[in-house]
Amino acid sequence: MTGKMLINGALVDGAATLDVINPATGQPFITVARADQAQLEEAVAAARAAAPGWTALGYAARGVLIARLADAMAAEQDALAHLLTTEQGKPLAQAQGEVRAGIFQLRHYAAQTGEPIVLRETADCRIVEHRTPLGVVAAITPWNFPVLMVTQKIGPALITGNTVVLKPAPTTPVCALRIAELAAGIFPAGVLNVIVDANDLGGALSNHPDVAKVSFTGSTATGRKVMAAGADSLKRITLELGGNDAAIVLDDMDPREIAPKLFNGAMMNAGQVCLAIKRVYAPDAIYDELCAELARLAEAATVDDGTRQGAQIGPVQNRMQFEKLLGYLEDAEANGTVIAGGKPLDRDGYFIAPTIVRDIPDDARLVREEQFGPVLPVLRYTDVDEVIARANTGDYGLGGTVWGKDLDRAVDVAMKIDSGTVWVNKHLDLPFDIPFGGAKQSGIGREGGDEGLAAYTQGHVVNIALG
Ligand code: ADP
Repeated sequence: MTGKMLINGALVDGAATLDVINPATGQPFITVARADQAQLEEAVAAARAAAPGWTALGYAARGVLIARLADAMAAEQDALAHLLTTEQGKPLAQAQGEVRAGIFQLRHYAAQTGEPIVLRETADCRIVEHRTPLGVVAAITPWNFPVLMVTQKIGPALITGNTVVLKPAPTTPVCALRIAELAAGIFPAGVLNVIVDANDLGGALSNHPDVAKVSFTGSTATGRKVMAAGADSLKRITLELGGNDAAIVLDDMDPREIAPKLFNGAMMNAGQVCLAIKRVYAPDAIYDELCAELARLAEAATVDDGTRQGAQIGPVQNRMQFEKLLGYLEDAEANGTVIAGGKPLDRDGYFIAPTIVRDIPDDARLVREEQFGPVLPVLRYTDVDEVIARANTGDYGLGGTVWGKDLDRAVDVAMKIDSGTVWVNKHLDLPFDIPFGGAKQSGIGREGGDEGLAAYTQGHVVNIALG
Protein backbone atom coordinates (compact mmCIF):
# COMPACT_ATOMS: atom_id res chain seq x y z
CA MET A 1 0.00 0.00 0.00
CA THR A 2 1.76 3.14 -1.23
CA GLY A 3 -0.87 5.73 -0.33
CA LYS A 4 -0.37 7.34 -3.75
CA MET A 5 -3.13 8.79 -5.89
CA LEU A 6 -3.97 7.69 -9.43
CA ILE A 7 -3.81 10.47 -12.02
CA ASN A 8 -3.57 9.83 -15.75
CA GLY A 9 -2.51 6.22 -15.27
CA ALA A 10 0.34 7.01 -12.87
CA LEU A 11 0.49 6.49 -9.11
CA VAL A 12 1.63 9.86 -7.81
CA ASP A 13 2.51 11.62 -4.60
CA GLY A 14 0.39 14.55 -3.57
CA ALA A 15 1.24 18.20 -3.41
CA ALA A 16 0.53 17.63 0.29
CA THR A 17 -0.05 14.67 2.60
CA LEU A 18 -2.89 13.57 4.84
CA ASP A 19 -2.76 11.53 8.03
CA VAL A 20 -5.54 8.96 8.28
CA ILE A 21 -6.77 8.12 11.77
CA ASN A 22 -7.75 4.67 12.99
CA PRO A 23 -11.03 5.41 14.82
CA ALA A 24 -10.43 2.52 17.23
CA THR A 25 -7.33 4.27 18.62
CA GLY A 26 -7.78 7.91 17.65
CA GLN A 27 -4.22 7.76 16.27
CA PRO A 28 -2.93 8.11 12.70
CA PHE A 29 -2.04 4.78 11.08
CA ILE A 30 -0.98 5.85 7.61
CA THR A 31 -0.03 8.99 5.71
CA VAL A 32 -1.40 9.27 2.19
CA ALA A 33 -1.09 11.63 -0.75
CA ARG A 34 -3.34 14.67 -0.87
CA ALA A 35 -4.05 16.68 -4.02
CA ASP A 36 -3.99 20.41 -4.59
CA GLN A 37 -6.05 22.30 -7.15
CA ALA A 38 -3.44 21.70 -9.89
CA GLN A 39 -3.63 17.92 -9.38
CA LEU A 40 -7.41 18.08 -9.49
CA GLU A 41 -7.08 19.88 -12.85
CA GLU A 42 -4.67 17.19 -14.07
CA ALA A 43 -7.08 14.45 -13.05
CA VAL A 44 -10.06 16.07 -14.80
CA ALA A 45 -7.97 16.76 -17.93
CA ALA A 46 -6.76 13.15 -18.00
CA ALA A 47 -10.31 11.85 -17.64
CA ARG A 48 -11.47 14.14 -20.41
CA ALA A 49 -8.68 13.06 -22.76
CA ALA A 50 -9.31 9.37 -22.06
CA ALA A 51 -13.07 9.53 -22.66
CA PRO A 52 -13.27 9.06 -26.47
CA GLY A 53 -10.99 6.02 -26.49
CA TRP A 54 -12.77 4.45 -23.53
CA THR A 55 -16.18 5.01 -25.12
CA ALA A 56 -14.96 3.53 -28.40
CA LEU A 57 -13.96 0.28 -26.68
CA GLY A 58 -17.59 -0.72 -26.27
CA TYR A 59 -19.40 -2.54 -23.46
CA ALA A 60 -17.79 -5.96 -23.84
CA ALA A 61 -14.19 -4.74 -23.75
CA ARG A 62 -14.89 -2.32 -20.91
CA GLY A 63 -16.63 -5.11 -19.02
CA VAL A 64 -13.55 -7.32 -19.30
CA LEU A 65 -11.41 -4.65 -17.62
CA ILE A 66 -13.98 -3.91 -14.89
CA ALA A 67 -14.19 -7.66 -14.18
CA ARG A 68 -10.39 -7.72 -13.96
CA LEU A 69 -10.52 -5.06 -11.24
CA ALA A 70 -13.11 -7.19 -9.41
CA ASP A 71 -10.75 -10.18 -9.69
CA ALA A 72 -7.83 -8.14 -8.37
CA MET A 73 -9.92 -7.09 -5.36
CA ALA A 74 -11.08 -10.68 -4.83
CA ALA A 75 -7.47 -11.89 -4.82
CA GLU A 76 -6.77 -9.75 -1.74
CA GLN A 77 -10.19 -9.48 -0.15
CA ASP A 78 -9.08 -10.29 3.38
CA ALA A 79 -6.34 -7.66 3.30
CA LEU A 80 -8.77 -5.12 1.84
CA ALA A 81 -11.32 -5.91 4.54
CA HIS A 82 -8.65 -5.41 7.19
CA LEU A 83 -7.74 -2.04 5.70
CA LEU A 84 -11.42 -1.15 5.65
CA THR A 85 -11.89 -1.95 9.33
CA THR A 86 -8.72 -0.05 10.21
CA GLU A 87 -9.78 3.16 8.50
CA GLN A 88 -13.55 2.96 9.03
CA GLY A 89 -14.01 1.07 12.31
CA LYS A 90 -16.67 -1.50 11.41
CA PRO A 91 -16.24 -5.08 12.68
CA LEU A 92 -14.19 -7.28 10.38
CA ALA A 93 -17.13 -9.52 9.47
CA GLN A 94 -19.04 -6.47 8.22
CA ALA A 95 -15.94 -5.25 6.34
CA GLN A 96 -15.59 -8.65 4.68
CA GLY A 97 -19.24 -8.47 3.67
CA GLU A 98 -18.74 -5.01 2.24
CA VAL A 99 -15.72 -6.07 0.19
CA ARG A 100 -17.58 -9.10 -1.14
CA ALA A 101 -20.53 -6.90 -2.07
CA GLY A 102 -18.20 -4.43 -3.81
CA ILE A 103 -16.63 -7.20 -5.88
CA PHE A 104 -20.05 -8.63 -6.72
CA GLN A 105 -21.23 -5.16 -7.70
CA LEU A 106 -18.33 -4.62 -10.12
CA ARG A 107 -19.03 -8.01 -11.69
CA HIS A 108 -22.69 -7.10 -12.01
CA TYR A 109 -21.81 -3.92 -13.91
CA ALA A 110 -19.11 -5.65 -15.96
CA ALA A 111 -21.80 -7.94 -17.37
CA GLN A 112 -24.03 -5.12 -18.68
CA THR A 113 -24.40 -4.97 -22.45
CA GLY A 114 -26.04 -1.60 -23.07
CA GLU A 115 -28.23 -2.77 -25.93
CA PRO A 116 -30.01 0.06 -27.77
CA ILE A 117 -33.75 0.18 -27.14
CA VAL A 118 -36.10 -0.12 -30.11
CA LEU A 119 -38.84 2.35 -29.27
CA ARG A 120 -40.96 1.85 -32.38
CA GLU A 121 -40.81 -0.38 -35.39
CA THR A 122 -43.50 -0.05 -38.09
CA ALA A 123 -43.61 -0.46 -41.86
CA ASP A 124 -42.47 3.10 -42.39
CA CYS A 125 -40.40 3.93 -39.36
CA ARG A 126 -37.85 2.62 -36.94
CA ILE A 127 -36.97 4.61 -33.81
CA VAL A 128 -34.04 3.46 -31.71
CA GLU A 129 -32.72 4.99 -28.52
CA HIS A 130 -29.00 4.61 -27.90
CA ARG A 131 -27.71 5.46 -24.46
CA THR A 132 -24.47 7.39 -24.86
CA PRO A 133 -22.01 8.27 -22.11
CA LEU A 134 -21.92 11.72 -20.55
CA GLY A 135 -18.14 12.27 -20.41
CA VAL A 136 -16.27 12.87 -17.16
CA VAL A 137 -18.04 11.73 -14.00
CA ALA A 138 -17.00 13.14 -10.64
CA ALA A 139 -17.68 10.51 -7.98
CA ILE A 140 -17.72 11.95 -4.47
CA THR A 141 -18.09 9.39 -1.71
CA PRO A 142 -18.69 9.38 2.07
CA TRP A 143 -16.90 7.63 4.93
CA ASN A 144 -19.43 4.99 5.98
CA PHE A 145 -18.79 2.45 3.17
CA PRO A 146 -15.31 3.19 1.78
CA VAL A 147 -15.35 0.20 -0.61
CA LEU A 148 -19.00 -0.18 -1.55
CA MET A 149 -19.55 3.50 -2.32
CA VAL A 150 -16.56 3.40 -4.66
CA THR A 151 -17.71 0.33 -6.60
CA GLN A 152 -21.28 1.63 -6.64
CA LYS A 153 -20.14 4.68 -8.56
CA ILE A 154 -17.23 3.54 -10.71
CA GLY A 155 -19.02 0.34 -11.86
CA PRO A 156 -21.96 1.98 -13.64
CA ALA A 157 -19.97 5.08 -14.69
CA LEU A 158 -17.24 3.06 -16.38
CA ILE A 159 -19.34 0.35 -18.04
CA THR A 160 -21.51 2.97 -19.72
CA GLY A 161 -18.39 4.56 -21.24
CA ASN A 162 -17.69 7.50 -18.96
CA THR A 163 -14.35 8.24 -17.37
CA VAL A 164 -14.09 9.03 -13.68
CA VAL A 165 -12.44 11.29 -11.15
CA LEU A 166 -13.14 9.73 -7.76
CA LYS A 167 -12.74 11.68 -4.55
CA PRO A 168 -13.29 9.64 -1.38
CA ALA A 169 -14.04 11.20 1.99
CA PRO A 170 -10.88 12.56 3.61
CA THR A 171 -11.27 10.45 6.74
CA THR A 172 -11.47 7.19 4.72
CA PRO A 173 -9.35 7.46 1.57
CA VAL A 174 -7.26 4.33 2.09
CA CYS A 175 -9.42 1.61 0.49
CA ALA A 176 -10.10 3.90 -2.48
CA LEU A 177 -6.34 4.37 -2.90
CA ARG A 178 -5.75 0.62 -2.70
CA ILE A 179 -8.42 0.09 -5.37
CA ALA A 180 -6.65 2.80 -7.40
CA GLU A 181 -3.37 0.87 -7.14
CA LEU A 182 -5.07 -2.24 -8.42
CA ALA A 183 -6.78 -0.29 -11.21
CA ALA A 184 -3.54 1.38 -12.34
CA GLY A 185 -2.39 -1.79 -14.07
CA ILE A 186 -5.77 -2.50 -15.61
CA PHE A 187 -7.41 0.55 -17.17
CA PRO A 188 -5.97 2.78 -19.90
CA ALA A 189 -4.45 6.01 -18.51
CA GLY A 190 -7.01 8.58 -17.41
CA VAL A 191 -10.04 6.28 -17.39
CA LEU A 192 -10.11 6.14 -13.58
CA ASN A 193 -8.43 8.85 -11.51
CA VAL A 194 -8.48 8.88 -7.72
CA ILE A 195 -7.58 12.00 -5.78
CA VAL A 196 -7.67 12.74 -2.06
CA ASP A 197 -8.51 16.05 -0.44
CA ALA A 198 -8.97 17.45 3.04
CA ASN A 199 -12.62 18.42 2.46
CA ASP A 200 -11.38 21.29 0.29
CA LEU A 201 -11.70 20.10 -3.32
CA GLY A 202 -15.30 18.84 -3.50
CA GLY A 203 -16.58 22.26 -4.52
CA ALA A 204 -14.03 22.69 -7.32
CA LEU A 205 -14.75 19.19 -8.60
CA SER A 206 -18.50 19.61 -8.58
CA ASN A 207 -18.49 22.86 -10.54
CA HIS A 208 -15.64 22.00 -12.87
CA PRO A 209 -16.68 22.92 -16.44
CA ASP A 210 -15.26 19.66 -17.84
CA VAL A 211 -17.19 17.45 -15.43
CA ALA A 212 -20.46 16.30 -17.04
CA LYS A 213 -21.96 14.55 -14.07
CA VAL A 214 -21.55 14.46 -10.33
CA SER A 215 -22.51 11.31 -8.51
CA PHE A 216 -22.55 12.22 -4.85
CA THR A 217 -23.31 10.31 -1.68
CA GLY A 218 -23.16 12.24 1.57
CA SER A 219 -25.07 14.63 3.76
CA THR A 220 -28.07 16.63 2.61
CA ALA A 221 -26.30 19.88 3.49
CA THR A 222 -23.36 19.08 1.20
CA GLY A 223 -25.71 17.67 -1.45
CA ARG A 224 -27.34 21.10 -1.72
CA LYS A 225 -23.91 22.63 -2.38
CA VAL A 226 -23.22 20.04 -5.09
CA MET A 227 -26.51 20.87 -6.77
CA ALA A 228 -25.83 24.61 -6.65
CA ALA A 229 -22.27 24.11 -7.94
CA GLY A 230 -23.54 22.14 -10.92
CA ALA A 231 -26.03 24.79 -12.01
CA ASP A 232 -23.56 26.85 -14.07
CA SER A 233 -22.86 24.07 -16.54
CA LEU A 234 -26.19 22.21 -16.05
CA LYS A 235 -24.50 19.10 -14.79
CA ARG A 236 -26.31 15.84 -14.44
CA ILE A 237 -26.43 14.96 -10.78
CA THR A 238 -27.26 11.96 -8.68
CA LEU A 239 -27.56 12.76 -4.99
CA GLU A 240 -27.84 10.05 -2.37
CA LEU A 241 -28.30 11.98 0.85
CA GLY A 242 -29.34 11.55 4.44
CA GLY A 243 -32.26 9.71 5.93
CA ASN A 244 -34.16 9.52 9.20
CA ASP A 245 -35.87 6.21 8.59
CA ALA A 246 -38.71 5.12 10.81
CA ALA A 247 -39.39 1.51 11.77
CA ILE A 248 -43.09 1.00 12.46
CA VAL A 249 -43.87 -2.07 14.54
CA LEU A 250 -47.50 -3.21 14.34
CA ASP A 251 -49.30 -4.59 17.37
CA ASP A 252 -49.37 -8.21 16.20
CA MET A 253 -45.58 -8.50 16.45
CA ASP A 254 -43.85 -10.38 19.24
CA PRO A 255 -41.45 -7.88 20.83
CA ARG A 256 -38.85 -10.56 21.58
CA GLU A 257 -38.85 -11.77 18.02
CA ILE A 258 -38.62 -8.32 16.50
CA ALA A 259 -36.11 -6.68 18.88
CA PRO A 260 -32.92 -8.27 17.42
CA LYS A 261 -33.93 -7.26 13.90
CA LEU A 262 -34.58 -3.69 14.95
CA PHE A 263 -31.38 -3.59 16.97
CA ASN A 264 -29.22 -4.83 14.09
CA GLY A 265 -30.99 -2.52 11.66
CA ALA A 266 -30.17 0.43 13.88
CA MET A 267 -26.69 -0.53 15.05
CA MET A 268 -25.04 -2.02 11.97
CA ASN A 269 -21.86 -0.09 11.18
CA ALA A 270 -22.44 1.70 14.51
CA GLY A 271 -25.60 3.24 13.06
CA GLN A 272 -23.65 4.99 10.31
CA VAL A 273 -25.80 3.82 7.44
CA CYS A 274 -28.01 6.16 5.44
CA LEU A 275 -30.73 3.49 5.54
CA ALA A 276 -30.26 2.52 9.20
CA ILE A 277 -33.32 2.47 11.43
CA LYS A 278 -33.08 5.90 13.05
CA ARG A 279 -36.31 5.83 15.11
CA VAL A 280 -38.62 3.03 16.20
CA TYR A 281 -42.38 3.46 16.69
CA ALA A 282 -43.98 0.78 18.84
CA PRO A 283 -47.64 0.43 19.89
CA ASP A 284 -48.79 0.84 23.51
CA ALA A 285 -49.43 -2.89 23.94
CA ILE A 286 -45.82 -3.93 23.41
CA TYR A 287 -43.94 -0.67 24.06
CA ASP A 288 -42.54 -1.51 27.49
CA GLU A 289 -41.49 -5.01 26.57
CA LEU A 290 -39.87 -3.93 23.31
CA CYS A 291 -37.93 -1.15 25.06
CA ALA A 292 -36.70 -3.58 27.70
CA GLU A 293 -35.67 -6.11 25.08
CA LEU A 294 -33.76 -3.51 23.02
CA ALA A 295 -32.03 -2.29 26.18
CA ARG A 296 -31.01 -5.86 27.02
CA LEU A 297 -29.50 -6.31 23.55
CA ALA A 298 -27.66 -3.00 23.84
CA GLU A 299 -26.18 -3.94 27.21
CA ALA A 300 -25.14 -7.36 25.89
CA ALA A 301 -23.49 -6.10 22.68
CA THR A 302 -19.70 -6.32 22.46
CA VAL A 303 -18.31 -2.92 21.55
CA ASP A 304 -14.69 -3.16 20.55
CA ASP A 305 -11.99 -2.49 17.99
CA GLY A 306 -13.45 -4.00 14.81
CA THR A 307 -10.37 -6.14 14.22
CA ARG A 308 -10.94 -7.95 17.54
CA GLN A 309 -12.69 -11.30 17.55
CA GLY A 310 -16.28 -10.96 18.74
CA ALA A 311 -16.64 -7.21 18.17
CA GLN A 312 -20.25 -6.48 17.20
CA ILE A 313 -20.13 -2.71 17.20
CA GLY A 314 -17.00 -0.72 16.40
CA PRO A 315 -16.14 2.92 17.03
CA VAL A 316 -17.85 5.70 15.12
CA GLN A 317 -15.75 6.76 12.20
CA ASN A 318 -14.35 10.15 13.07
CA ARG A 319 -13.98 12.72 15.80
CA MET A 320 -16.52 15.13 14.36
CA GLN A 321 -19.18 12.43 14.29
CA PHE A 322 -18.21 11.33 17.79
CA GLU A 323 -18.64 14.85 19.11
CA LYS A 324 -21.92 15.27 17.30
CA LEU A 325 -23.17 12.09 18.95
CA LEU A 326 -22.17 13.37 22.38
CA GLY A 327 -24.60 16.22 21.67
CA TYR A 328 -27.39 13.74 20.88
CA LEU A 329 -26.65 11.86 24.09
CA GLU A 330 -27.07 15.10 26.04
CA ASP A 331 -30.35 15.72 24.23
CA ALA A 332 -31.51 12.19 25.04
CA GLU A 333 -30.60 12.62 28.71
CA ALA A 334 -32.44 15.95 28.91
CA ASN A 335 -35.60 14.99 27.00
CA GLY A 336 -36.03 11.26 27.32
CA THR A 337 -35.17 8.28 29.48
CA VAL A 338 -31.91 6.53 28.63
CA ILE A 339 -32.35 2.83 29.40
CA ALA A 340 -29.05 1.53 27.98
CA GLY A 341 -25.71 3.10 27.15
CA GLY A 342 -25.86 6.88 27.12
CA LYS A 343 -22.15 7.59 27.19
CA PRO A 344 -18.84 7.16 25.39
CA LEU A 345 -16.67 4.24 26.47
CA ASP A 346 -13.83 5.04 28.82
CA ARG A 347 -11.05 4.19 26.35
CA ASP A 348 -9.14 5.69 23.44
CA GLY A 349 -10.87 5.93 20.08
CA TYR A 350 -14.36 7.05 19.18
CA PHE A 351 -16.49 4.49 21.00
CA ILE A 352 -20.09 5.20 22.00
CA ALA A 353 -22.02 2.63 24.02
CA PRO A 354 -25.08 1.44 22.09
CA THR A 355 -27.87 3.57 23.48
CA ILE A 356 -31.63 3.05 23.75
CA VAL A 357 -33.81 6.02 24.66
CA ARG A 358 -37.50 5.78 25.56
CA ASP A 359 -40.24 8.32 26.33
CA ILE A 360 -38.68 10.99 24.21
CA PRO A 361 -40.91 13.50 22.38
CA ASP A 362 -41.08 13.72 18.59
CA ASP A 363 -39.64 17.23 18.63
CA ALA A 364 -36.40 16.20 20.39
CA ARG A 365 -33.31 16.61 18.20
CA LEU A 366 -32.56 12.88 18.43
CA VAL A 367 -35.92 12.16 16.79
CA ARG A 368 -36.08 15.00 14.27
CA GLU A 369 -32.48 14.88 13.03
CA GLU A 370 -30.31 12.16 11.53
CA GLN A 371 -28.13 10.96 14.41
CA PHE A 372 -25.99 8.60 12.26
CA GLY A 373 -24.73 6.66 15.25
CA PRO A 374 -25.57 3.92 17.76
CA VAL A 375 -28.24 5.93 19.59
CA LEU A 376 -31.82 4.77 19.04
CA PRO A 377 -35.01 6.52 20.18
CA VAL A 378 -38.07 4.31 20.72
CA LEU A 379 -41.39 6.15 20.49
CA ARG A 380 -44.86 5.10 21.57
CA TYR A 381 -47.98 5.26 19.42
CA THR A 382 -51.66 4.42 19.78
CA ASP A 383 -53.19 4.77 16.34
CA VAL A 384 -51.75 3.50 13.05
CA ASP A 385 -52.81 6.55 10.97
CA GLU A 386 -51.23 8.80 13.57
CA VAL A 387 -47.93 6.88 13.44
CA ILE A 388 -47.82 7.03 9.62
CA ALA A 389 -48.15 10.82 9.81
CA ARG A 390 -45.39 10.99 12.43
CA ALA A 391 -43.10 8.74 10.38
CA ASN A 392 -43.63 10.99 7.36
CA THR A 393 -42.75 14.15 9.26
CA GLY A 394 -39.60 16.00 8.22
CA ASP A 395 -37.62 16.57 5.06
CA TYR A 396 -36.06 13.13 4.74
CA GLY A 397 -37.58 10.24 2.80
CA LEU A 398 -34.92 7.67 2.14
CA GLY A 399 -36.14 4.34 3.51
CA GLY A 400 -38.24 2.82 6.23
CA THR A 401 -39.52 -0.50 7.54
CA VAL A 402 -42.88 -1.88 8.62
CA TRP A 403 -43.09 -5.00 10.78
CA GLY A 404 -46.31 -6.97 11.14
CA LYS A 405 -47.68 -10.49 11.01
CA ASP A 406 -50.79 -9.48 9.06
CA LEU A 407 -49.05 -8.90 5.73
CA ASP A 408 -51.94 -7.04 4.07
CA ARG A 409 -52.06 -4.55 6.88
CA ALA A 410 -48.27 -4.15 6.94
CA VAL A 411 -48.13 -3.57 3.17
CA ASP A 412 -50.96 -1.07 3.44
CA VAL A 413 -48.92 0.92 5.98
CA ALA A 414 -45.77 0.58 3.81
CA MET A 415 -47.62 2.06 0.84
CA LYS A 416 -48.24 5.22 2.87
CA ILE A 417 -44.59 5.80 3.84
CA ASP A 418 -43.16 8.68 1.85
CA SER A 419 -39.73 7.29 0.98
CA GLY A 420 -37.71 5.85 -1.89
CA THR A 421 -37.65 2.36 -0.37
CA VAL A 422 -39.74 0.71 2.31
CA TRP A 423 -39.19 -2.84 3.51
CA VAL A 424 -41.84 -5.07 5.03
CA ASN A 425 -40.60 -7.60 7.58
CA LYS A 426 -37.02 -7.21 6.39
CA HIS A 427 -34.37 -4.52 6.14
CA LEU A 428 -31.44 -3.48 3.94
CA ASP A 429 -32.10 -5.99 1.21
CA LEU A 430 -30.71 -3.97 -1.73
CA PRO A 431 -29.90 -6.05 -4.81
CA PHE A 432 -27.93 -4.07 -7.39
CA ASP A 433 -30.60 -4.52 -10.03
CA ILE A 434 -33.17 -2.74 -7.86
CA PRO A 435 -33.22 1.08 -8.02
CA PHE A 436 -32.50 2.84 -4.76
CA GLY A 437 -32.73 6.52 -3.87
CA GLY A 438 -34.51 9.15 -1.86
CA ALA A 439 -37.83 10.94 -1.79
CA LYS A 440 -38.05 14.54 -0.53
CA GLN A 441 -34.64 15.89 0.53
CA SER A 442 -33.00 12.48 0.76
CA GLY A 443 -31.78 12.76 -2.78
CA ILE A 444 -32.29 13.14 -6.48
CA GLY A 445 -32.17 10.24 -8.90
CA ARG A 446 -31.55 6.55 -8.34
CA GLU A 447 -28.58 4.22 -8.13
CA GLY A 448 -28.90 0.58 -9.12
CA GLY A 449 -31.29 -1.01 -11.55
CA ASP A 450 -31.85 0.18 -15.10
CA GLU A 451 -32.69 3.62 -13.78
CA GLY A 452 -29.36 3.92 -11.99
CA LEU A 453 -27.42 2.81 -15.03
CA ALA A 454 -29.37 5.14 -17.33
CA ALA A 455 -28.38 8.03 -15.06
CA TYR A 456 -24.80 7.74 -16.37
CA THR A 457 -25.98 8.11 -19.95
CA GLN A 458 -28.07 10.34 -22.14
CA GLY A 459 -30.60 9.24 -24.70
CA HIS A 460 -29.63 9.55 -28.35
CA VAL A 461 -32.68 8.82 -30.44
CA VAL A 462 -32.24 7.84 -34.08
CA ASN A 463 -35.54 8.09 -35.95
CA ILE A 464 -35.38 6.43 -39.40
CA ALA A 465 -37.88 6.58 -42.26
CA LEU A 466 -38.33 3.16 -43.86
CA GLY A 467 -39.62 2.13 -47.28
P1 ADP B 1 -20.07 14.57 6.46
O1 ADP B 1 -20.67 15.90 6.80
O2 ADP B 1 -20.76 13.45 7.12
O3 ADP B 1 -18.59 14.47 6.54
P2 ADP B 1 -20.28 15.23 3.66
O4 ADP B 1 -21.57 15.16 2.95
O5 ADP B 1 -19.75 16.60 3.93
O6 ADP B 1 -20.44 14.34 4.94
O7 ADP B 1 -19.16 14.41 2.87
C1 ADP B 1 -19.39 13.55 1.79
C2 ADP B 1 -18.37 13.82 0.73
O8 ADP B 1 -18.55 15.16 0.24
C3 ADP B 1 -16.92 13.76 1.18
O9 ADP B 1 -16.15 13.14 0.16
C4 ADP B 1 -16.56 15.23 1.34
O10 ADP B 1 -15.17 15.47 1.24
C5 ADP B 1 -17.30 15.83 0.19
N1 ADP B 1 -17.52 17.28 0.26
C6 ADP B 1 -17.36 18.12 1.31
N2 ADP B 1 -17.67 19.39 0.97
C7 ADP B 1 -18.05 19.36 -0.33
C8 ADP B 1 -18.51 20.34 -1.29
N3 ADP B 1 -18.67 21.62 -0.94
N4 ADP B 1 -18.80 19.93 -2.52
C9 ADP B 1 -18.70 18.65 -2.88
N5 ADP B 1 -18.28 17.67 -2.04
C10 ADP B 1 -17.95 18.01 -0.79
